[in-house]
Amino acid sequence: MELVWRKLIPQPRSKFYEVECPECGSTMSIFSHAATIIRCEVCGKIMAEPTGGKAKIYGKIIRTLE
Ligand SMILES: [Zn+2]
Repeated sequence: MELVWRKLIPQPRSKFYEVECPECGSTMSIFSHAATIIRCEVCGKIMAEPTGGKAKIYGKIIRTLE
């Protein structure tokens, strides 16, 4: 019997995005796999929506924080 350690387990790379609100232009850090709806702290516009995997991001991603 052979012991084989597989390194093929997928590891979802989660990160944070800095996203600009399309409504008021303020920026927020949003988790890439957000599990809840994220709203802009300033105007309340929806900035991210959960999809079960990677969240759908609304607005412009300014940069990625890994
Ligand atoms: Zn806003």
